[in-house]
Amino acid sequence: MIEVYIGLGSNLAQPEKQIQAAYASLAALPDTNLIKGSSLYRSQPMGPQDQPDYVNAVVLIETRLSPDNLLQNTQLIEHQQGRIRKANRWGPRTLDLDVLLYGSQQIDSKHLTVPHSGMKQREFVLYPLFEITPELTLPCGEKLSDLVQACPINGLHKMTSTALI
Ligand code: ATP
Ligand code: MG
Ligand code: MG
Repeated sequence: MIEVYIGLGSNLAQPEKQIQAAYASLAALPDTNLIKGSSLYRSQPMGPQDQPDYVNAVVLIETRLSPDNLLQNTQLIEHQQGRIRKANRWGPRTLDLDVLLYGSQQIDSKHLTVPHSGMKQREFVLYPLFEITPELTLPCGEKLSDLVQACPINGLHKMTSTALI
């Protein structure tokens, strides 16, 4: 089994429920177990500002699915929860599932970049990730705790004191 971290985000159609539904769908994937989920966090939108705030979380799973197969499955879950991709980058969405880390692998293929290309700068990824695995070191050797310290909070707000799982 490989340990995989997935970043979740939603800002449409009852975001908290979208994140909860996504947790359940990830737990139901074949050859996959849900290990830990972070609290929910509220964050300001990245990119276009004329959209609602986001609800974010990070989840740790263990899986035997290959990186490509996992991505196909996470995109299917996004689709099942009504995600519509528009030309505009970072527009509003019911659900975004990003593969942050896949074990210690570094992947740079047509459809998949792992570690996720934006994760080191994004407070809505780093803080929930730190909540569930504070001792984490990235494949490049950087400590998560150092990245968190260097990352402004940008109004990020923890919504719930207990994790969903
Ligand atoms: P960002 O990736 O900057 O957070 P986004 O999540 O809004 O933006 P999407 O529209 O969800 O972007 O995905 C665009 C493409 O990114 C997908 O078609 C997918 O193939 C590719 N991609 C590359 N690396 C990853 C990854 N680690 N996790 C998820 N998708 C990825
Ligand atoms: Mg994303
Ligand atoms: Mg995405």
